[in-house]
Amino acid sequence: MGPWFCYNPWAFQGSVPPPGSSWQQGNSPGGWPPHGDQGGRGQGIMGASPQAHTVFAPPPPAPSTPLWDQAGLIAALNQMALQNSGWVMDSGATSHMHNSDGILISRQLSSIPSITVGSGHHLPVSCSGSSTLPGHASPFSLRNVLVVPSLVRNLLSVRQFTRDNNCTIEFDAFGFSVKDLQTRRVILRSNSSDGLYTVPATPQANLVTSTDLWHHRLGHPGAAALHLLRHNNSISCNKSAHTLCHSCQLGKHVRLPFGNSSSVSSLPFELIHCDVWTSPVASISGAQYYLVILDDFTHFCWTFPLVHKSEVATHITQFCAFVHTQFSLPVKAVQADNGTEFVNNTLATFFASSGIHLRLSCPYTSPQNGKAERIIRSLNNICRTLLIHAHMPPKYWAEALATATYLLNRRPCSAIHQSSL
Ligand SMILES: [Zn+2]
Repeated sequence: MGPWFCYNPWAFQGSVPPPGSSWQQGNSPGGWPPHGDQGGRGQGIMGASPQAHTVFAPPPPAPSTPLWDQAGLIAALNQMALQNSGWVMDSGATSHMHNSDGILISRQLSSIPSITVGSGHHLPVSCSGSSTLPGHASPFSLRNVLVVPSLVRNLLSVRQFTRDNNCTIEFDAFGFSVKDLQTRRVILRSNSSDGLYTVPATPQANLVTSTDLWHHRLGHPGAAALHLLRHNNSISCNKSAHTLCHSCQLGKHVRLPFGNSSSVSSLPFELIHCDVWTSPVASISGAQYYLVILDDFTHFCWTFPLVHKSEVATHITQFCAFVHTQFSLPVKAVQADNGTEFVNNTLATFFASSGIHLRLSCPYTSPQNGKAERIIRSLNNICRTLLIHAHMPPKYWAEALATATYLLNRRPCSAIHQSSL
């Protein structure tokens, strides 16, 4: 084949256009192809005829050879409309028969090459295997399902079904009931109005699936959502193994993880973390914020309710003086975020005159101030719990905060190896 080999609608040299062709021209009725010297220059619906290509076109197919099996396609389309993924109970069938192998959990070559239908025709069996049918409590077992691709209706052998599932089937004018053989309890009920004993249709896509497949199909929901869907029988899984999803790990991370901080302090007050929390409710004493100061080495924390954020500078100045006098230790560095309560002239002057290094986290990068944020979360959890337990309104949060700080400083702390101060 040369590089010029391609499908060329103008390449037909015979007098018969291809079946279903709509390229006949108004100015050359019946003429095929629309040669340039026959009533117009072949201005077809796809534009001018590229005559040069016809030189290199491959030999045309014989006019008598159909390009595709039109009758076969129509028959296949008709069969598609008739084919149904649901099952029909059939007391005359010796085996379960289905037209798709997509329902099989396990498959093998069938020992039966074909089945005989009522008209006496033989339909080929492509393979066989086992499958399941969803039930209220547990799925029904379908063993030795013959896959017959040309089958119009999927047949469920009554004999085989009752034998494999230890049940009985009772038919009535409206449908049928599958009952447990021992307890006589109805384990499946199906009403149908189409004159056949059809089994409640289960979308074929619901069969032979794992939790992972459903996780992918449903747009990667969490394990809890999948568990709920399985629990209320909205989805059916044959395999429950849920593996870690690489796409989720990549797709659901809004940012790369922060590396663990390598800075380690060796003395109390070598580094203190500061942050301010804004309360949605003003305390009974009028406080709207609180400042938390956490010592990196001991994990001891101090809290100061504030009416205004501007009080932060005063509290930090006084705290450093307190530490210096009481412990004879200098505060060497202060870690804070970029809030104006920490970045202002008053504090800048104080830090400069005291030789304190102010370490600021990058803007919008709160994890760099993680220790202070974590201690605020712990304190708030204790405050909320104390108030709820004592049936106290939220406006007493500042009072609860004092208790929470006292308690947190005395609890075992994982950051200092489960010891407390
Ligand atoms: Zn996923």
